[in-house]
Amino acid sequence: MKTFEELGIAPQIIKAINEMGFEQPMPVQEEVIPLLLAETRDIIALAQTGTGKTAAFGIPIIQKTSISLHAPQTLILCPTRELCLQIADDLSEYSKFVDDIKILPVYGGSSIESQIRALKRGVHIIVATPGRLIDLLNRKTVSLENVHTVVLDEADEMLNMGFTESIDEILGQVPNDRSMLLFSATMPQEIARITRKYMNSPVEITIGRKNEGALNVKHIYYVVQAKDKYLALKRIADYYPNIYAIIFCRTRKETQEIADKLIQDGYDADSLHGDLSQVQRDFVMNKYRNRNLQLLVATDVAARGLDVDDITHVINYGLPDDTEVYTHRSGRTGRAGKTGTSISIIHVKEKGKIGQIEKMINKKFEKRQIPSGDAICEKQLFNFVDKVEKVKVNEEEIARLLPAIFRKLEWLEKEDIVKRVVSLEFNRLIEYYQKAKEIEEPSDFSSKRDRKEKYEKRSDRDKSSRRAERGYTRIFINLGKTDGTNPGNLMGFINDHVPGKVHIGRIDLMQNFSFFEVPEENARQVVKAFKGLYVDDRRLVVEIAQDTAASGGGKNEGSWQKRSKGNGKSYRKGQKK
Ligand code: AMP
Repeated sequence: MKTFEELGIAPQIIKAINEMGFEQPMPVQEEVIPLLLAETRDIIALAQTGTGKTAAFGIPIIQKTSISLHAPQTLILCPTRELCLQIADDLSEYSKFVDDIKILPVYGGSSIESQIRALKRGVHIIVATPGRLIDLLNRKTVSLENVHTVVLDEADEMLNMGFTESIDEILGQVPNDRSMLLFSATMPQEIARITRKYMNSPVEITIGRKNEGALNVKHIYYVVQAKDKYLALKRIADYYPNIYAIIFCRTRKETQEIADKLIQDGYDADSLHGDLSQVQRDFVMNKYRNRNLQLLVATDVAARGLDVDDITHVINYGLPDDTEVYTHRSGRTGRAGKTGTSISIIHVKEKGKIGQIEKMINKKFEKRQIPSGDAICEKQLFNFVDKVEKVKVNEEEIARLLPAIFRKLEWLEKEDIVKRVVSLEFNRLIEYYQKAKEIEEPSDFSSKRDRKEKYEKRSDRDKSSRRAERGYTRIFINLGKTDGTNPGNLMGFINDHVPGKVHIGRIDLMQNFSFFEVPEENARQVVKAFKGLYVDDRRLVVEIAQDTAASGGGKNEGSWQKRSKGNGKSYRKGQKK
Protein backbone atom coordinates (compact mmCIF):
# COMPACT_ATOMS: atom_id res chain seq x y z
CA MET A 1 0.00 0.00 0.00
CA LYS A 2 1.27 3.45 -0.94
CA THR A 3 1.45 6.48 1.31
CA PHE A 4 -0.26 9.79 0.54
CA GLU A 5 3.18 11.25 -0.28
CA GLU A 6 3.79 8.45 -2.77
CA LEU A 7 0.49 9.24 -4.47
CA GLY A 8 1.86 12.72 -5.19
CA ILE A 9 -0.32 14.71 -2.82
CA ALA A 10 0.93 18.18 -1.86
CA PRO A 11 2.26 18.62 1.71
CA GLN A 12 -0.33 21.20 2.80
CA ILE A 13 -3.14 18.79 1.86
CA ILE A 14 -1.41 15.87 3.60
CA LYS A 15 -1.15 18.04 6.71
CA ALA A 16 -4.90 18.70 6.61
CA ILE A 17 -5.94 15.10 6.03
CA ASN A 18 -3.56 13.88 8.71
CA GLU A 19 -5.31 16.23 11.09
CA MET A 20 -8.57 14.58 10.01
CA GLY A 21 -7.16 11.24 11.04
CA PHE A 22 -6.44 9.86 7.56
CA GLU A 23 -3.28 7.83 7.92
CA GLN A 24 -3.26 5.74 4.78
CA PRO A 25 -5.08 6.03 1.48
CA MET A 26 -8.20 3.93 1.02
CA PRO A 27 -8.26 1.67 -2.09
CA VAL A 28 -10.38 4.05 -4.18
CA GLN A 29 -7.97 6.87 -3.32
CA GLU A 30 -4.94 4.81 -4.21
CA GLU A 31 -6.43 4.18 -7.65
CA VAL A 32 -8.07 7.47 -8.48
CA ILE A 33 -5.70 10.11 -7.05
CA PRO A 34 -2.65 9.29 -9.25
CA LEU A 35 -4.86 9.03 -12.35
CA LEU A 36 -6.41 12.43 -11.77
CA LEU A 37 -3.12 14.08 -10.89
CA ALA A 38 -1.64 12.61 -14.08
CA GLU A 39 -4.31 14.35 -16.15
CA THR A 40 -6.18 11.18 -17.08
CA ARG A 41 -9.24 12.41 -18.92
CA ASP A 42 -12.19 10.30 -17.96
CA ILE A 43 -12.76 7.84 -15.15
CA ILE A 44 -15.76 5.69 -14.24
CA ALA A 45 -15.61 4.46 -10.65
CA LEU A 46 -18.08 1.95 -9.29
CA ALA A 47 -17.98 2.82 -5.63
CA GLN A 48 -20.47 3.30 -2.85
CA THR A 49 -20.66 5.89 -0.13
CA GLY A 50 -18.27 5.06 2.66
CA THR A 51 -15.44 3.91 0.42
CA GLY A 52 -13.55 7.21 0.72
CA LYS A 53 -14.54 8.44 -2.73
CA THR A 54 -14.96 12.10 -1.74
CA ALA A 55 -11.28 12.41 -0.88
CA ALA A 56 -10.41 10.36 -3.99
CA PHE A 57 -11.71 13.09 -6.27
CA GLY A 58 -11.58 16.00 -3.81
CA ILE A 59 -7.86 15.93 -3.07
CA PRO A 60 -6.59 15.98 -6.68
CA ILE A 61 -9.20 18.59 -7.61
CA ILE A 62 -7.95 20.91 -4.90
CA GLN A 63 -4.37 20.30 -5.88
CA LYS A 64 -5.09 21.10 -9.53
CA THR A 65 -6.94 24.33 -8.80
CA SER A 66 -5.33 27.48 -10.08
CA ILE A 67 -5.99 29.97 -7.28
CA SER A 68 -5.12 32.99 -9.42
CA LEU A 69 -7.91 32.19 -11.88
CA HIS A 70 -11.06 33.52 -10.22
CA ALA A 71 -13.51 31.36 -12.14
CA PRO A 72 -15.16 27.96 -11.61
CA GLN A 73 -12.69 25.29 -12.71
CA THR A 74 -14.28 22.21 -11.25
CA LEU A 75 -17.95 21.30 -11.14
CA ILE A 76 -19.18 18.55 -8.84
CA LEU A 77 -22.78 17.45 -9.37
CA CYS A 78 -24.58 15.40 -6.75
CA PRO A 79 -28.20 14.38 -6.10
CA THR A 80 -29.12 15.99 -2.78
CA ARG A 81 -28.61 19.13 -0.81
CA GLU A 82 -27.21 17.15 2.10
CA LEU A 83 -24.60 15.41 0.00
CA CYS A 84 -23.77 18.75 -1.62
CA LEU A 85 -23.08 20.32 1.77
CA GLN A 86 -21.15 17.29 2.92
CA ILE A 87 -18.87 17.29 -0.13
CA ALA A 88 -18.27 21.03 0.15
CA ASP A 89 -17.46 20.63 3.84
CA ASP A 90 -15.06 17.76 3.18
CA LEU A 91 -13.30 19.72 0.45
CA SER A 92 -12.95 22.71 2.75
CA GLU A 93 -11.34 20.44 5.34
CA TYR A 94 -8.85 18.97 2.87
CA SER A 95 -7.94 22.47 1.68
CA LYS A 96 -7.66 23.98 5.14
CA PHE A 97 -4.01 24.95 4.48
CA VAL A 98 -4.49 25.98 0.86
CA ASP A 99 -4.75 29.76 0.91
CA ASP A 100 -7.63 31.58 -0.78
CA ILE A 101 -9.32 28.59 -2.37
CA LYS A 102 -13.07 29.17 -2.74
CA ILE A 103 -15.50 26.26 -2.67
CA LEU A 104 -19.21 26.98 -3.04
CA PRO A 105 -22.11 24.61 -2.40
CA VAL A 106 -25.07 25.47 -4.64
CA TYR A 107 -28.37 23.78 -3.85
CA GLY A 108 -32.10 24.34 -3.87
CA GLY A 109 -34.12 25.28 -0.84
CA SER A 110 -31.91 28.16 0.29
CA SER A 111 -31.48 31.76 -0.82
CA ILE A 112 -30.39 31.95 -4.45
CA GLU A 113 -29.35 35.58 -3.95
CA SER A 114 -26.61 34.76 -1.48
CA GLN A 115 -25.36 32.04 -3.84
CA ILE A 116 -25.29 34.59 -6.67
CA ARG A 117 -23.36 37.05 -4.50
CA ALA A 118 -20.80 34.36 -3.65
CA LEU A 119 -20.44 33.45 -7.33
CA LYS A 120 -19.81 37.12 -8.16
CA ARG A 121 -17.02 37.26 -5.59
CA GLY A 122 -15.37 34.40 -7.51
CA VAL A 123 -15.24 30.67 -6.76
CA HIS A 124 -12.92 27.88 -7.88
CA ILE A 125 -14.98 24.78 -7.16
CA ILE A 126 -18.75 24.51 -7.41
CA VAL A 127 -20.56 21.64 -5.71
CA ALA A 128 -24.13 21.66 -7.01
CA THR A 129 -27.43 19.86 -7.21
CA PRO A 130 -28.54 19.91 -10.88
CA GLY A 131 -31.81 21.83 -10.44
CA ARG A 132 -30.32 24.86 -8.71
CA LEU A 133 -27.37 25.00 -11.07
CA ILE A 134 -29.72 25.10 -14.08
CA ASP A 135 -31.53 27.96 -12.39
CA LEU A 136 -28.26 29.87 -12.01
CA LEU A 137 -27.23 29.08 -15.58
CA ASN A 138 -30.58 30.36 -16.85
CA ARG A 139 -30.06 33.59 -14.91
CA LYS A 140 -26.60 33.81 -16.45
CA THR A 141 -25.07 34.27 -13.04
CA VAL A 142 -22.57 31.49 -13.48
CA SER A 143 -20.27 30.59 -16.33
CA LEU A 144 -18.83 27.14 -16.85
CA GLU A 145 -16.45 28.07 -19.65
CA ASN A 146 -13.33 27.58 -17.53
CA VAL A 147 -14.40 24.24 -16.08
CA HIS A 148 -11.73 21.61 -16.80
CA THR A 149 -13.06 18.85 -14.50
CA VAL A 150 -16.61 17.57 -13.94
CA VAL A 151 -17.47 15.05 -11.23
CA LEU A 152 -20.82 13.26 -11.21
CA ASP A 153 -21.19 11.86 -7.72
CA GLU A 154 -23.82 9.21 -7.01
CA ALA A 155 -24.71 9.36 -10.69
CA ASP A 156 -27.24 6.51 -10.42
CA GLU A 157 -29.10 8.39 -7.71
CA MET A 158 -29.20 11.54 -9.80
CA LEU A 159 -30.77 9.60 -12.63
CA ASN A 160 -33.21 7.90 -10.27
CA MET A 161 -34.28 11.32 -9.11
CA GLY A 162 -35.03 12.40 -12.67
CA PHE A 163 -32.04 14.67 -13.27
CA THR A 164 -31.10 13.12 -16.64
CA GLU A 165 -32.19 16.11 -18.72
CA SER A 166 -30.64 18.60 -16.34
CA ILE A 167 -27.33 16.76 -16.46
CA ASP A 168 -27.43 16.74 -20.25
CA GLU A 169 -28.13 20.47 -20.26
CA ILE A 170 -25.33 21.25 -17.82
CA LEU A 171 -22.76 19.10 -19.57
CA GLY A 172 -23.70 20.86 -22.81
CA GLN A 173 -22.38 24.12 -21.30
CA VAL A 174 -19.02 22.74 -20.17
CA PRO A 175 -16.05 22.88 -22.63
CA ASN A 176 -15.60 19.67 -24.62
CA ASP A 177 -12.04 19.06 -23.54
CA ARG A 178 -12.83 18.79 -19.84
CA SER A 179 -12.15 15.57 -17.98
CA MET A 180 -15.02 13.79 -16.39
CA LEU A 181 -15.23 11.56 -13.40
CA LEU A 182 -18.32 9.51 -12.70
CA PHE A 183 -19.02 7.80 -9.39
CA SER A 184 -21.91 5.40 -9.13
CA ALA A 185 -22.86 2.53 -6.85
CA THR A 186 -24.58 0.73 -9.75
CA MET A 187 -24.26 0.85 -13.52
CA PRO A 188 -27.73 1.01 -15.06
CA GLN A 189 -28.28 1.48 -18.82
CA GLU A 190 -28.79 5.20 -18.52
CA ILE A 191 -25.35 5.67 -16.96
CA ALA A 192 -23.84 3.68 -19.78
CA ARG A 193 -25.52 6.12 -22.18
CA ILE A 194 -24.06 9.13 -20.39
CA THR A 195 -20.59 7.62 -20.35
CA ARG A 196 -20.82 6.87 -24.09
CA LYS A 197 -22.02 10.35 -24.88
CA TYR A 198 -19.73 12.40 -22.69
CA MET A 199 -16.67 10.31 -22.00
CA ASN A 200 -13.68 9.44 -24.04
CA SER A 201 -12.15 5.96 -23.51
CA PRO A 202 -12.78 6.15 -19.78
CA VAL A 203 -10.66 4.21 -17.31
CA GLU A 204 -12.97 1.93 -15.33
CA ILE A 205 -12.39 1.24 -11.67
CA THR A 206 -14.46 -1.02 -9.44
CA ILE A 207 -14.04 -0.60 -5.75
CA GLY A 208 -15.52 -3.47 -3.78
CA ARG A 209 -18.75 -2.69 -2.06
CA LYS A 210 -18.49 -1.26 1.36
CA ASN A 211 -18.77 -4.81 2.47
CA GLU A 212 -18.05 -4.01 6.02
CA GLY A 213 -21.71 -3.02 6.09
CA ALA A 214 -23.15 -5.83 4.02
CA LEU A 215 -21.32 -8.48 5.99
CA ASN A 216 -22.50 -7.19 9.32
CA VAL A 217 -26.14 -6.99 8.35
CA LYS A 218 -28.59 -9.68 9.29
CA HIS A 219 -31.70 -9.93 7.11
CA ILE A 220 -34.99 -10.90 8.74
CA TYR A 221 -38.54 -10.97 7.46
CA TYR A 222 -42.00 -11.33 8.94
CA VAL A 223 -45.08 -12.30 6.98
CA VAL A 224 -48.30 -10.67 8.16
CA GLN A 225 -51.72 -9.85 6.83
CA ALA A 226 -52.11 -6.32 5.50
CA LYS A 227 -54.37 -5.36 8.41
CA ASP A 228 -51.69 -6.38 10.92
CA LYS A 229 -48.78 -4.56 9.32
CA TYR A 230 -48.78 -1.55 11.61
CA LEU A 231 -49.33 -3.65 14.74
CA ALA A 232 -46.43 -5.83 13.67
CA LEU A 233 -44.26 -2.74 13.28
CA LYS A 234 -45.11 -1.66 16.82
CA ARG A 235 -44.30 -5.08 18.21
CA ILE A 236 -40.95 -5.07 16.47
CA ALA A 237 -40.17 -1.60 17.82
CA ASP A 238 -41.19 -2.76 21.30
CA TYR A 239 -39.16 -5.93 21.05
CA TYR A 240 -35.95 -3.93 20.62
CA PRO A 241 -35.99 -1.44 23.50
CA ASN A 242 -32.83 0.35 22.33
CA ILE A 243 -33.79 0.50 18.69
CA TYR A 244 -32.50 3.41 16.58
CA ALA A 245 -34.06 2.80 13.22
CA ILE A 246 -35.14 4.08 9.85
CA ILE A 247 -38.51 2.77 8.72
CA PHE A 248 -38.80 2.92 4.96
CA CYS A 249 -42.24 3.40 3.43
CA ARG A 250 -43.14 3.47 -0.24
CA THR A 251 -45.05 6.74 -0.50
CA ARG A 252 -45.03 10.12 1.16
CA LYS A 253 -48.60 9.59 2.27
CA GLU A 254 -47.84 6.26 3.90
CA THR A 255 -44.72 7.73 5.51
CA GLN A 256 -46.73 10.51 7.11
CA GLU A 257 -49.52 8.17 8.22
CA ILE A 258 -47.20 5.70 9.88
CA ALA A 259 -45.23 8.45 11.60
CA ASP A 260 -48.45 10.06 12.83
CA LYS A 261 -49.70 6.78 14.24
CA LEU A 262 -46.41 6.05 15.97
CA ILE A 263 -46.31 9.52 17.51
CA GLN A 264 -49.90 9.11 18.67
CA ASP A 265 -48.97 5.77 20.21
CA GLY A 266 -46.21 7.40 22.20
CA TYR A 267 -43.09 6.51 20.20
CA ASP A 268 -40.15 8.86 19.58
CA ALA A 269 -40.90 9.00 15.89
CA ASP A 270 -41.08 11.52 13.07
CA SER A 271 -41.41 11.60 9.30
CA LEU A 272 -39.06 12.59 6.51
CA HIS A 273 -40.42 12.97 2.99
CA GLY A 274 -40.66 15.32 0.06
CA ASP A 275 -43.88 17.03 1.12
CA LEU A 276 -42.05 18.66 4.00
CA SER A 277 -40.26 21.98 3.57
CA GLN A 278 -36.48 22.02 3.63
CA VAL A 279 -36.57 23.63 7.07
CA GLN A 280 -38.81 20.85 8.38
CA ARG A 281 -36.59 18.17 6.84
CA ASP A 282 -33.46 19.69 8.35
CA PHE A 283 -35.15 19.83 11.71
CA VAL A 284 -36.16 16.16 11.59
CA MET A 285 -32.76 15.02 10.35
CA ASN A 286 -31.00 16.89 13.11
CA LYS A 287 -33.32 15.44 15.70
CA TYR A 288 -32.54 11.99 14.37
CA ARG A 289 -28.79 12.56 14.14
CA ASN A 290 -28.75 13.81 17.72
CA ARG A 291 -30.69 10.75 18.78
CA ASN A 292 -33.65 12.75 19.95
CA LEU A 293 -35.67 10.48 17.69
CA GLN A 294 -35.67 6.72 17.87
CA LEU A 295 -37.71 5.97 14.79
CA LEU A 296 -37.38 7.90 11.57
CA VAL A 297 -40.10 7.08 9.06
CA ALA A 298 -38.84 8.03 5.61
CA THR A 299 -39.18 7.66 1.88
CA ASP A 300 -36.14 6.42 0.01
CA VAL A 301 -35.55 9.74 -1.70
CA ALA A 302 -35.80 11.89 1.42
CA ALA A 303 -33.49 9.64 3.45
CA ARG A 304 -30.79 9.77 0.81
CA GLY A 305 -28.99 12.75 2.25
CA LEU A 306 -28.87 11.32 5.72
CA ASP A 307 -25.60 9.76 6.71
CA VAL A 308 -25.75 8.23 10.17
CA ASP A 309 -23.37 5.52 11.28
CA ASP A 310 -24.96 3.77 14.23
CA ILE A 311 -28.44 2.87 12.98
CA THR A 312 -29.35 -0.43 14.64
CA HIS A 313 -32.25 -1.45 12.39
CA VAL A 314 -33.56 -0.70 8.96
CA ILE A 315 -37.22 -1.59 8.72
CA ASN A 316 -38.79 -2.13 5.32
CA TYR A 317 -42.47 -1.41 5.75
CA GLY A 318 -43.09 -3.52 2.69
CA LEU A 319 -40.41 -4.35 0.15
CA PRO A 320 -39.35 -1.85 -2.48
CA ASP A 321 -40.20 -2.65 -6.11
CA ASP A 322 -36.62 -2.32 -7.14
CA THR A 323 -34.33 -4.84 -5.48
CA GLU A 324 -31.41 -2.39 -5.80
CA VAL A 325 -33.30 -0.08 -3.46
CA TYR A 326 -33.26 -2.83 -0.86
CA THR A 327 -29.46 -2.84 -0.95
CA HIS A 328 -29.36 0.91 -0.47
CA ARG A 329 -31.77 0.67 2.44
CA SER A 330 -30.10 -2.19 4.26
CA GLY A 331 -26.67 -0.64 3.72
CA ARG A 332 -27.67 2.10 6.14
CA THR A 333 -27.16 -0.20 9.08
CA GLY A 334 -24.15 -2.31 10.05
CA ARG A 335 -21.76 0.52 9.36
CA ALA A 336 -18.44 1.47 10.93
CA GLY A 337 -17.75 -2.04 12.20
CA LYS A 338 -21.09 -2.35 13.98
CA THR A 339 -23.71 -5.01 13.40
CA GLY A 340 -27.14 -4.18 12.08
CA THR A 341 -30.42 -5.79 11.17
CA SER A 342 -32.56 -5.22 8.14
CA ILE A 343 -36.15 -6.19 8.88
CA SER A 344 -38.87 -6.57 6.27
CA ILE A 345 -42.55 -6.71 7.15
CA ILE A 346 -44.17 -8.26 4.12
CA HIS A 347 -47.43 -9.81 2.98
CA VAL A 348 -47.72 -13.23 1.39
CA LYS A 349 -47.54 -11.96 -2.18
CA GLU A 350 -44.12 -10.40 -1.59
CA LYS A 351 -42.53 -13.72 -0.69
CA GLY A 352 -41.17 -14.10 -4.24
CA LYS A 353 -39.25 -10.85 -3.87
CA ILE A 354 -37.39 -12.22 -0.86
CA GLY A 355 -35.89 -14.88 -3.13
CA GLN A 356 -34.87 -12.27 -5.70
CA ILE A 357 -33.19 -10.13 -3.07
CA GLU A 358 -31.44 -13.14 -1.56
CA LYS A 359 -29.91 -13.86 -4.95
CA MET A 360 -28.82 -10.30 -5.39
CA ILE A 361 -27.24 -9.81 -1.98
CA ASN A 362 -26.03 -13.39 -1.90
CA LYS A 363 -27.32 -13.82 1.61
CA LYS A 364 -30.21 -15.73 3.15
CA PHE A 365 -33.08 -14.09 4.96
CA GLU A 366 -34.26 -15.50 8.25
CA LYS A 367 -38.03 -15.88 8.64
CA ARG A 368 -39.32 -14.96 12.09
CA GLN A 369 -42.61 -14.93 13.94
CA ILE A 370 -43.88 -11.60 15.21
CA PRO A 371 -42.86 -11.43 18.88
CA SER A 372 -45.59 -12.41 21.33
CA GLY A 373 -46.79 -10.00 23.98
CA ASP A 374 -45.06 -12.09 26.64
CA ALA A 375 -41.75 -12.05 24.80
CA ILE A 376 -41.94 -8.27 24.35
CA CYS A 377 -42.75 -7.60 27.99
CA GLU A 378 -39.96 -9.88 29.10
CA LYS A 379 -37.45 -8.20 26.79
CA GLN A 380 -38.45 -4.73 27.96
CA LEU A 381 -38.39 -5.77 31.58
CA PHE A 382 -34.92 -7.20 31.40
CA ASN A 383 -33.68 -4.20 29.51
CA PHE A 384 -35.05 -2.00 32.26
CA VAL A 385 -33.54 -4.14 35.01
CA ASP A 386 -30.26 -4.03 33.15
CA LYS A 387 -30.40 -0.25 33.11
CA VAL A 388 -31.16 -0.20 36.83
CA GLU A 389 -28.03 -2.27 37.40
CA LYS A 390 -25.88 -0.03 35.28
CA VAL A 391 -27.21 3.43 36.09
CA LYS A 392 -24.60 5.82 37.41
CA VAL A 393 -25.71 7.08 40.78
CA ASN A 394 -24.88 10.67 41.49
CA GLU A 395 -24.32 10.26 45.21
CA GLU A 396 -23.69 13.93 45.89
CA GLU A 397 -26.77 15.22 44.12
CA ILE A 398 -29.21 12.84 45.74
CA ALA A 399 -27.63 12.61 49.21
CA ARG A 400 -29.76 15.51 50.48
CA LEU A 401 -33.00 13.82 49.46
CA LEU A 402 -32.23 10.28 50.49
CA PRO A 403 -33.04 10.36 54.22
CA ALA A 404 -36.58 11.56 53.57
CA ILE A 405 -37.07 9.00 50.80
CA PHE A 406 -35.78 6.18 53.00
CA ARG A 407 -38.12 7.30 55.79
CA LYS A 408 -41.08 7.31 53.42
CA LEU A 409 -40.36 3.86 52.08
CA GLU A 410 -39.10 2.17 55.21
CA TRP A 411 -42.33 0.22 55.69
CA LEU A 412 -41.70 -1.62 52.41
CA GLU A 413 -39.51 -4.68 51.94
CA LYS A 414 -36.84 -4.59 49.23
CA GLU A 415 -38.92 -6.99 47.10
CA ASP A 416 -41.94 -4.70 47.37
CA ILE A 417 -39.95 -1.69 46.25
CA VAL A 418 -38.61 -3.58 43.27
CA LYS A 419 -42.09 -4.73 42.32
CA ARG A 420 -43.45 -1.21 42.59
CA VAL A 421 -40.69 0.34 40.49
CA VAL A 422 -41.17 -2.27 37.81
CA SER A 423 -44.93 -1.83 37.90
CA LEU A 424 -44.60 1.93 37.58
CA GLU A 425 -42.58 1.45 34.44
CA PHE A 426 -44.42 -1.47 32.92
CA ASN A 427 -48.04 -1.58 33.91
CA ARG A 428 -49.11 0.16 30.72
CA LEU A 429 -47.09 -2.06 28.44
CA ILE A 430 -48.19 -5.21 30.17
CA GLU A 431 -51.78 -4.06 30.13
CA TYR A 432 -51.57 -3.25 26.44
CA TYR A 433 -50.17 -6.63 25.53
CA GLN A 434 -52.53 -8.37 27.86
CA LYS A 435 -55.40 -6.99 25.80
CA ALA A 436 -53.72 -7.20 22.40
CA LYS A 437 -54.50 -10.12 20.14
CA GLU A 438 -51.42 -12.03 19.04
CA ILE A 439 -50.55 -11.47 15.39
CA GLU A 440 -50.93 -14.61 13.37
CA GLU A 441 -49.21 -15.42 10.15
CA PRO A 442 -51.51 -15.78 7.14
CA SER A 443 -52.61 -19.42 7.15
CA ASP A 444 -51.23 -20.43 3.76
CA PHE A 445 -47.84 -19.34 4.96
CA SER A 446 -47.48 -21.21 8.19
CA SER A 447 -45.18 -24.14 8.58
CA LYS A 448 -46.25 -27.58 9.76
CA ARG A 449 -45.04 -26.70 13.21
CA ASP A 450 -47.00 -23.45 13.22
CA ARG A 451 -50.11 -25.33 12.15
CA LYS A 452 -49.68 -27.84 14.96
CA GLU A 453 -49.36 -25.04 17.49
CA LYS A 454 -52.42 -23.35 16.07
CA TYR A 455 -54.36 -26.60 16.31
CA GLU A 456 -53.33 -26.95 19.93
CA LYS A 457 -54.44 -23.42 20.65
CA ARG A 458 -57.76 -24.06 18.96
CA SER A 459 -58.32 -27.22 20.94
CA ASP A 460 -57.40 -25.24 24.04
CA ARG A 461 -60.12 -22.79 23.14
CA ASP A 462 -62.58 -25.63 22.70
CA LYS A 463 -61.65 -26.96 26.10
CA SER A 464 -61.95 -23.49 27.60
CA SER A 465 -65.50 -23.12 26.44
CA ARG A 466 -66.56 -26.51 27.72
CA ARG A 467 -69.43 -26.56 30.22
CA ALA A 468 -69.19 -28.34 33.55
CA GLU A 469 -70.67 -31.80 34.08
CA ARG A 470 -74.05 -31.86 35.74
CA GLY A 471 -73.68 -31.26 39.49
CA TYR A 472 -70.15 -29.89 39.09
CA THR A 473 -68.67 -26.41 38.93
CA ARG A 474 -65.86 -25.57 36.61
CA ILE A 475 -62.96 -23.69 38.15
CA PHE A 476 -60.23 -21.72 36.43
CA ILE A 477 -56.65 -21.74 37.71
CA ASN A 478 -53.79 -19.77 36.22
CA LEU A 479 -51.41 -22.70 36.08
CA GLY A 480 -50.92 -24.60 32.85
CA LYS A 481 -48.63 -26.98 31.01
CA THR A 482 -45.95 -24.30 30.78
CA ASP A 483 -45.73 -24.41 34.56
CA GLY A 484 -45.24 -28.17 34.54
CA THR A 485 -48.80 -28.81 35.62
CA ASN A 486 -50.22 -32.30 35.05
CA PRO A 487 -53.44 -33.87 36.36
CA GLY A 488 -51.61 -35.69 39.15
CA ASN A 489 -49.77 -32.73 40.66
CA LEU A 490 -52.75 -30.45 40.14
CA MET A 491 -54.98 -32.81 42.16
CA GLY A 492 -52.32 -33.06 44.85
CA PHE A 493 -51.99 -29.29 44.92
CA ILE A 494 -55.74 -28.79 45.29
CA ASN A 495 -56.02 -31.36 48.04
CA ASP A 496 -53.04 -29.88 49.88
CA HIS A 497 -54.81 -26.55 50.14
CA VAL A 498 -58.48 -27.31 50.44
CA PRO A 499 -59.48 -28.46 53.91
CA GLY A 500 -61.20 -31.85 53.90
CA LYS A 501 -61.25 -34.20 50.96
CA VAL A 502 -62.72 -32.77 47.76
CA HIS A 503 -63.59 -34.95 44.82
CA ILE A 504 -62.08 -33.60 41.63
CA GLY A 505 -63.86 -34.28 38.39
CA ARG A 506 -62.74 -33.42 34.88
CA ILE A 507 -59.43 -31.62 34.42
CA ASP A 508 -58.57 -29.66 31.23
CA LEU A 509 -54.98 -28.59 31.04
CA MET A 510 -54.05 -25.81 28.69
CA GLN A 511 -50.78 -24.13 27.87
CA ASN A 512 -50.94 -21.33 30.40
CA PHE A 513 -53.97 -22.11 32.52
CA SER A 514 -56.30 -24.98 33.38
CA PHE A 515 -59.81 -25.88 34.42
CA PHE A 516 -60.91 -28.46 36.96
CA GLU A 517 -64.32 -29.42 38.15
CA VAL A 518 -65.45 -29.94 41.72
CA PRO A 519 -68.90 -30.75 43.14
CA GLU A 520 -71.08 -27.59 43.15
CA GLU A 521 -71.30 -27.55 46.93
CA ASN A 522 -67.47 -27.41 47.29
CA ALA A 523 -66.79 -24.74 44.66
CA ARG A 524 -66.81 -21.64 46.89
CA GLN A 525 -64.74 -23.38 49.54
CA VAL A 526 -62.10 -24.32 46.93
CA VAL A 527 -61.90 -20.79 45.51
CA LYS A 528 -61.60 -19.38 49.02
CA ALA A 529 -58.82 -21.79 49.92
CA PHE A 530 -56.59 -20.40 47.19
CA LYS A 531 -57.14 -16.72 47.97
CA GLY A 532 -53.85 -14.89 48.45
CA LEU A 533 -51.72 -17.88 47.59
CA TYR A 534 -48.55 -17.53 45.59
CA VAL A 535 -46.73 -19.99 43.39
CA ASP A 536 -43.12 -19.02 42.88
CA ASP A 537 -43.90 -15.34 43.49
CA ARG A 538 -46.85 -15.42 41.16
CA ARG A 539 -50.23 -14.74 42.65
CA LEU A 540 -52.61 -17.57 42.02
CA VAL A 541 -55.88 -16.78 40.33
CA VAL A 542 -58.57 -19.35 41.05
CA GLU A 543 -62.08 -18.42 39.97
CA ILE A 544 -65.38 -20.01 39.13
CA ALA A 545 -65.26 -20.29 35.37
CA GLN A 546 -68.92 -20.81 34.54
CA ASP A 547 -69.50 -17.20 33.47
CA THR A 548 -66.51 -17.03 31.23
CA ALA A 549 -66.84 -20.47 29.73
CA ALA A 550 -69.23 -19.35 27.02
CA SER A 551 -66.84 -16.63 25.92
CA GLY A 552 -64.02 -19.06 25.51
CA GLY A 553 -62.35 -18.31 28.80
CA GLY A 554 -61.39 -14.91 27.42
CA LYS A 555 -61.47 -13.07 30.69
CA ASN A 556 -59.38 -15.59 32.47
CA GLU A 557 -56.93 -15.85 29.61
CA GLY A 558 -56.50 -12.11 29.85
CA SER A 559 -55.88 -12.05 33.53
CA TRP A 560 -53.27 -14.73 33.08
CA GLN A 561 -51.40 -13.01 30.36
CA LYS A 562 -50.46 -10.04 32.42
CA ARG A 563 -48.41 -12.28 34.66
CA SER A 564 -45.03 -13.44 33.59
CA LYS A 565 -44.67 -17.11 32.87
CA GLY A 566 -43.29 -18.77 35.94
CA ASN A 567 -40.97 -21.59 35.07
CA GLY A 568 -41.10 -23.02 38.52
CA LYS A 569 -42.21 -26.59 38.47
CA SER A 570 -42.49 -26.76 42.23
CA TYR A 571 -45.59 -25.49 43.90
CA ARG A 572 -45.19 -23.74 47.14
CA LYS A 573 -47.40 -21.83 49.38
CA GLY A 574 -46.61 -18.14 49.29
CA GLN A 575 -47.41 -15.47 51.75
CA LYS A 576 -50.99 -14.52 52.35
CA LYS A 577 -51.91 -11.04 51.28
P1 AMP B 1 -16.90 8.85 1.63
O1 AMP B 1 -16.95 7.55 0.87
O2 AMP B 1 -16.22 9.91 0.86
O3 AMP B 1 -18.26 9.25 2.11
O4 AMP B 1 -15.97 8.63 2.93
C1 AMP B 1 -16.34 7.81 4.01
C2 AMP B 1 -15.64 8.18 5.31
O5 AMP B 1 -14.28 7.77 5.28
C3 AMP B 1 -15.62 9.67 5.59
O6 AMP B 1 -15.99 9.84 6.95
C4 AMP B 1 -14.18 10.09 5.38
O7 AMP B 1 -13.83 11.18 6.21
C5 AMP B 1 -13.42 8.82 5.74
N1 AMP B 1 -12.13 8.68 5.01
C6 AMP B 1 -11.89 8.95 3.73
N2 AMP B 1 -10.62 8.65 3.41
C7 AMP B 1 -10.02 8.18 4.51
C8 AMP B 1 -8.70 7.69 4.82
N3 AMP B 1 -7.76 7.63 3.90
N4 AMP B 1 -8.48 7.27 6.07
C9 AMP B 1 -9.45 7.31 7.00
N5 AMP B 1 -10.70 7.76 6.78
C10 AMP B 1 -10.99 8.20 5.54
